[in-house]
Amino acid sequence: MGIQMKGKLLVVSGPSGVGKGTICDRAVARLHNTMLSVSVTERPPRAIETGGRSYHFLTPDEFDMLVDNDGLLEWAVYGGNRYGTPKADVMYALADGNNVILEIDVQGGEKVKAQIPETIRVFIAPPNEEALLERLHKRGTESEEQILARIERARGEMKHTKDYDYVIVNDNLNKAIDEFVKIIEEDF
Ligand code: ADP
Ligand code: 5GP
Repeated sequence: MGIQMKGKLLVVSGPSGVGKGTICDRAVARLHNTMLSVSVTERPPRAIETGGRSYHFLTPDEFDMLVDNDGLLEWAVYGGNRYGTPKADVMYALADGNNVILEIDVQGGEKVKAQIPETIRVFIAPPNEEALLERLHKRGTESEEQILARIERARGEMKHTKDYDYVIVNDNLNKAIDEFVKIIEEDF
């Protein structure tokens, strides 16, 4: 990438509703020099964006402009909307010695790994599909139709766990956070 990485770059993927946002937010709060990249998306904002997670919400034209100007490290389509990782923020943070977490889907994770081989990929898996359904319902941010589409997509994403450096099963939340923090602190 023509830039010296002093911090670690982590990709966190996993099915929608598995707890990625919750785990990343809690890990960032515990660690020094670790930040969560804020993605851009065309998806409309939820009434209440949960888990402290938020995006830069863009119009399709604004998104096109970022793509055309090579402003994204990667982008992918999810649920009919484009999502992408702003390049400059991530590269500057890494060069400054910060660890950066990208909470992105499996396709995006592959694109980042292809460009930056040092990337550490972490997959967050649910204990089972019932737990995932329950969490999506409890979060209450998607319609029943959207929930079913996300479950369907989750089945496809679960097949990619073998490509990941680490798989964390998010059953007990505190245990999952501890495992993730340990990976950031110890992996190099
Ligand atoms: P994601 O970012 O993967 O879509 P969230 O972090 O929004 O998922 O979590 C989805 C829901 O599941 C939230 O309501 C969250 O509080 C809940 N949750 C997260 N981890 C656990 C866990 N280990 N056990 C039970 N509920 C959990
Ligand atoms: P949600 O709509 O639930 O916030 O996110 C839907 C999916 O898009 C999740 O799997 C999330 O990880 C992924 N996602 C969020 N930001 C990005 C991004 O910048 N790039 C890619 N490729 N996926 C993203």
